[in-house]
Formats: sequence, structure tokens, C-alpha cells
Amino acid sequence: MTELLAPGATLERLFTGAVWAEGPVWIPQERVVRWSDIPNDRILAFDATTGTTRVHREHVEYTNGRTLDREGRVVQCSQGRRSVEREIDGEPVTIVDRWEGGRFNSPNDVVVASDGTIWFTDPPYGILESGREGHPGEQEYGGCYVFRLDERTGEVRPVVTELERPNGIAFSPDESVLYVSDTSETTPAIHAYDVDVARGEVSGGRVFATVEPPASDGFRVDVEGRVWTSSGDSVQVLAPDGALLLRVPVPEVVANVCFGGEDGHDLYVTATTSLYRIRTATTAAPRPAPPA
Ligand code: MG
Repeated sequence: MTELLAPGATLERLFTGAVWAEGPVWIPQERVVRWSDIPNDRILAFDATTGTTRVHREHVEYTNGRTLDREGRVVQCSQGRRSVEREIDGEPVTIVDRWEGGRFNSPNDVVVASDGTIWFTDPPYGILESGREGHPGEQEYGGCYVFRLDERTGEVRPVVTELERPNGIAFSPDESVLYVSDTSETTPAIHAYDVDVARGEVSGGRVFATVEPPASDGFRVDVEGRVWTSSGDSVQVLAPDGALLLRVPVPEVVANVCFGGEDGHDLYVTATTSLYRIRTATTAAPRPAPPA
């Protein structure tokens, strides 16, 4: 089997001091990992050049997962605004916050496809009574769906409706498979779907893998189609057939991961109070070219 980690790679702790760290993304032009500290309602930024972490923004309405769009701009979920937003000149601009008149629950994680469509999960964690990760509120459309937004037409469409707590989301390298985790307490699993990105059609749902201990809160797919996912006590690497290839123990409960670094080989890990990094022997899957 090909090696998954760089020779001698060890897990480094880069920052500690968050309450619940989530939603990392690598921003190449800044050489920064930006992530959410959800209960503290702030966004943090680790500068890979200086090795230091700063507060990027505070009072951010409980952002969670984020990604980059086709132009390299940050697209992120706000559990407090119950929206998906884009950061433009340092300010959040709402992209979408409702479907058929009902507000979303609390968008959790997001991915942008090669054609620019935005796919995101909408569990209710941000509107629970605790108010720890948002503002207590009602579920307005009555479900917890995965949505696809086409900004060119403005169409918002539910694409996955049968999961209890849809959470992490990613495409396979060729965008033929959509992975969505369900972080429900009773049936946690990563589900796989056959997907037609351009048509926004999803079919053939099946359980791709379950990780032990749960849950697969967030994950990224590498260039070989392997899924690098959080689990309760580690990062686990799953083959495209769902087989467990590697387990990297982490001393805190892991929420999410992203690839980054100059050559894309670094895996950044948000885990409860801390940001970690480990050197891998692979990189994130490049997005396919947009359709002609
Ligand atoms: Mg999540």
C-alpha cells in the first residue's frame, strides 16, 4: 500500500485555546488556515509563515464549515444567521438563507463543485436550546436536508432528504460520488451517493463507512479518492471502497480536517480546543475543470 503519511510525520499542536474548533480551510494566497471557534463566536487564522494564530473576526454569528469558491473566495456556513455566506473584502455577504420561504436550520458544512454550484448540509445544531452554537429557534421547513444552490439561476434545491443529521460533505475527485456524513447519535455513518453535479441530481444512496468511535463530523477527499475523516479520537483514512487504511490518533475529539501548505501535503486538524497539523504523502483532490 502506498504510504499515506510523510516519513517520520508526527502530529504537531499549532494552537490551543478554542472551545470547539471546526471548519478549517487553507487560503493559498495568504498561507493561512482559517477556522471557526464556534462557541466563542469567532474565526481564527493560523499563519503558516509565522507559525502564529490570530483572531480573524469576532461576533461572526457562529460560523462553522467553510471552503473556497471557484475564484478562491471563502464560502462559509453561519449557524447564527442560518445562512451560507461569502466573505468579500473582509465582510460576510449572505448568499442564501432560505428554501421555499422557510429559513434553514443552521448550515454546517459546505463544498463548491466545479461548475460553481454550492452544496451544503443543514442539521439543527445551531438552533438547539443550549444556544451554545447559535440562537435557539424552530426548524422552519421541517427536515434536515442537503441543499444545492445554483447562483446563476438562484435555484435552491434539496438533494438529500433522508438523513437525520447531515453534516460533513465532499465530492470524489471526478465528482461522480457525493459523500455526506450523518452524525445522528443512533445511526452515524458516511453515506455515498451517485451524483450528477450539473443537473443537481443525486441517487443510489448507500452507507459508505462507519467510523469507530463516531462521528465523521467533517472530511476531505485526497487526489486518490481516499476520504480523510474525523472520528471521535482520531483522523481516519478510508479507501474509495470504504475500507479503513490508517488511523492517526489525536488527543482531543476531532471535528474536521483540510489539506494545505505550500505543496498541499499538510493535513490541518481542528480538534476541540486545538489546531493540529501532520505531514501527509498526498494532497487534496483538485477540482475538475468546469464544464464547457
Ligand atoms: Mg460539521
